[in-house]
Amino acid sequence: DPSIRISLRLIPYSDALWLLVARDVGKLMRLEKMRRDFVANVSHELRTPLTVVHGYLDMLDPSDNPEWEPIVGEMRRQSQRMTQLVEDLLTLSRLEAQDTLVEEEVAMAPMLSTLRREAEAIGQGRHTVAVEDAAGVDLRGSSRELHSAFSNLVANAVRYTPSGGHIRVRFAPDAGGGVALSVEDTGYGIPEAHLARLTERFYRVSSSRTRETGGTGLGLAIVKHVLQLHQARLEIASEVGRGSIFTCRFGAERVMARTEDIHEEPH
Ligand code: ADP
Repeated sequence: DPSIRISLRLIPYSDALWLLVARDVGKLMRLEKMRRDFVANVSHELRTPLTVVHGYLDMLDPSDNPEWEPIVGEMRRQSQRMTQLVEDLLTLSRLEAQDTLVEEEVAMAPMLSTLRREAEAIGQGRHTVAVEDAAGVDLRGSSRELHSAFSNLVANAVRYTPSGGHIRVRFAPDAGGGVALSVEDTGYGIPEAHLARLTERFYRVSSSRTRETGGTGLGLAIVKHVLQLHQARLEIASEVGRGSIFTCRFGAERVMARTEDIHEEPH
């Protein structure tokens, strides 16, 4: 049976005896795969009914009936949230099922412009956004996945920073010939006790504030998976009331000389 995976451990028992312990870890792996497939299938099945609900909600015009206006508004917001949740779950499933990566040249100049536009759009002009391209190189990896990781960090920086704050995205050389992309904000910050668990699915620091901001609780889990696939590290530094810096560190093997004639924007 090819699905059986045996893990063997030799444990000293006494001076003359050793124990050989055999475990079928295949069962665990099969259960983990069932969990992954289940989440992926449910998310996929939810897509169509959600699209229908969303479509009809958009067609509703409550202007004749003023008491319906806030209700329809709330239904739209919640169906939007559910759609985002389903999309994030599908992204996570896709990332988990992947053990090899698309290896393409990720054009960083257009990536950084896209991130700037996204930050400005989400913040609706309530923050200043600075983007600095100090590395002058590109990355080797998947444009689509890296964009979703960086984009999540930028969206968080905006959502967890009050009006008038500053967001800075910086792409710069790093130790050992690598590069780092950091997203810095002057927002609420994160208490130290939460930092280690932040990339777990649905882990949130304060549920009331996060519910208002409309995130799904899956953003940093997505970031972690994308970086793992690129053998990159996520570092989080934060101070309550001052702000946070999320840094993605890529090794030298991910660095590519920039080709001048790439103008395509990532998806
Ligand atoms: P969410 O959709 O809730 O933002 P994430 O996985 O992206 O989910 O983030 C997990 C939690 O980490 C958030 O709920 C928030 O409490 C905290 N967090 C993430 N980014 C920031 C940030 N830039 N500043 C302050 N808190 C943050």
